[in-house]
Amino acid sequence: MEFSTINLILVIVEDNFKFKGRRRILASELKKKGILNNQIINSIETIPRHLFIDPGLSEQAYIDKALPIDSNQTISQPYTVAFQTQLLNPLPGEKILEIGTGSGYQTSILDFLKSDVYTIERNHNLFRSTSKLFKKLNINPVKFKYGDGYKGLIDDSPFDGIIVTAGSPYVPENLLKQLKIGGRMVVPIGKETQVMTKITRISVSDFKKETFGDFKFVPMLDKKD
Ligand code: SAH
Repeated sequence: MEFSTINLILVIVEDNFKFKGRRRILASELKKKGILNNQIINSIETIPRHLFIDPGLSEQAYIDKALPIDSNQTISQPYTVAFQTQLLNPLPGEKILEIGTGSGYQTSILDFLKSDVYTIERNHNLFRSTSKLFKKLNINPVKFKYGDGYKGLIDDSPFDGIIVTAGSPYVPENLLKQLKIGGRMVVPIGKETQVMTKITRISVSDFKKETFGDFKFVPMLDKKD
């Protein structure tokens, strides 16, 4: 077989009409569940979620549920990704810090929305595999750091938005300090289950806190974990 034929087959295997059709159905389900931001719906319709998970699970990629990824972690449920992103409401060109890169799916949604994305992952296996995937899919965060999300990125702060994609037992104080005035942080707070929380920085010392129901995330791990 010619090299170009093999290439063509690879492309067809990686994304195809079946997956595209399923993405369209998933996007319309999310609309019905209350995701009204058109750009977020477009991102769900466009980004091939099946490429962010183990090929053995591709058939489940467009069911609205969380799935396992390497190192006992999960790729969040599409509804949760869309809901958190809608709460964050990143505008094109805004500086957004993501904590918990994991599979890179949420990062690629932010990239699609034209955010300047900074993202941190503490698990080295995931950091390595997701770095490779970003290159392959041409997803270009401004910074992808292997490190502890509780610390944030002080040298790159302040941020317009911070999105935490692991369950934090408490409000991460360091991260609050890295928000611009008017900036917002979306973070699931709690141990067993988490309450989706949006914190807006109103002034240097004042923050507004709003809550948006219960969710279930893998834990945001501390140094001692
Ligand atoms: N946004 C991811 C969700 C992955 S699950 C996605 O779309 O796939 C949460 C991720 O947070 C895991 O990869 C986990 O390793 C990571 N994580 C947990 N504690 C962390 C910490 N303190 N700093 C950075 N990442 C952390």
